[in-house]
Amino acid sequence: MYINEILDNGGITTSFEVFPPKNNAPFEPVLKSVEKLSLLKPDFISVTYGAGGGTSQNTPKIASYIQNELHTPSMAHLTCASSTKEEIDAILSQLRDIGVDNILALRGDLPENYNPDDSNYYRYASQLVERILDFGGFSVGAACYPEGHVESKNTHEDLIHLKEKVDCGAQYLVTQMFFDNSALYSFLYRALKVGIDVPVIAGIMPVMNPNQIKRSCALSGATLPSRFKIMLDKFSDDPVSLQQAGIAYATEQIIDLIANGVNGIHIYTMNKPEVAGAIMNNLSSIL
Ligand code: FAD
Repeated sequence: MYINEILDNGGITTSFEVFPPKNNAPFEPVLKSVEKLSLLKPDFISVTYGAGGGTSQNTPKIASYIQNELHTPSMAHLTCASSTKEEIDAILSQLRDIGVDNILALRGDLPENYNPDDSNYYRYASQLVERILDFGGFSVGAACYPEGHVESKNTHEDLIHLKEKVDCGAQYLVTQMFFDNSALYSFLYRALKVGIDVPVIAGIMPVMNPNQIKRSCALSGATLPSRFKIMLDKFSDDPVSLQQAGIAYATEQIIDLIANGVNGIHIYTMNKPEVAGAIMNNLSSIL
């Protein structure tokens, strides 16, 4: 089922992100995680993409398993910075053959010795969006950054490029993680002002590992509100308490988002169904 059609229904949607096994890591634990996640009845599950080698092949496999064995709509992430246009077409054929209907079109991180003028590669995600739609058979989403993408000079310039991505056909947007809802509300207001009117799905990361959150935020530029920092500091040496506090924080964030009319909630599960399950349980009367 196409995600743009699910979103068109207008109700609240919940979805999960998982990552596939890295290189030669076993599939079994990831398959077990997605089985448990699909029992929580999300509207879809997305599978991240690690460019290069065997890792990139693991995304279609997991996405196909979710779609065809678990009968939950799946979305495969796909990045273009380190695959040639020819390689991208081969992956699109593969995804279409295995019945994965939805793609999150991304540029990905720039590889070392990246040459922006090499015409064998798509330079921006907007070009990948165009190619996927031209190829046919997919619903296409793209990434957005409530606090601006790290490489852009300022948030307005980033919004203008985001508008181009939507004009190229991105049917919905999934946000980078954020921990202060006001960053999202401000982004939604500014996005609407420049004419971005597609659904925006809010990406929520329940904190489970303080170092990983600090690393991701340093890389992505997401700000940590002081309330959140205090929680991290207090429980950073106590993983069980931190997980409980992280679940509570994510739950509060989601309740506030839904109360303010944000209908799409995407949980970065880090392949932990127990965390996604606890959040869904906290929201059982709301969803
Ligand atoms: P783009 O939309 O191409 O933007 C990249 C930069 O270029 C931005 O600064 C933008 O403002 C600028 N730009 C765009 N168009 C133009 C233009 N015409 N002229 C000048 N500048 C322009 N990475 C992975 O490797 N695998 C994943 O599975 C993955 N999943 C993700 C899921 C989500 C929800 C998000 C938010 C990010 C994900 N990423 C993933 C990270 C993503 O690949 C990086 O953030 C990457 O640096 C940018 O990708 P993009 O698709 O947003 O790029």
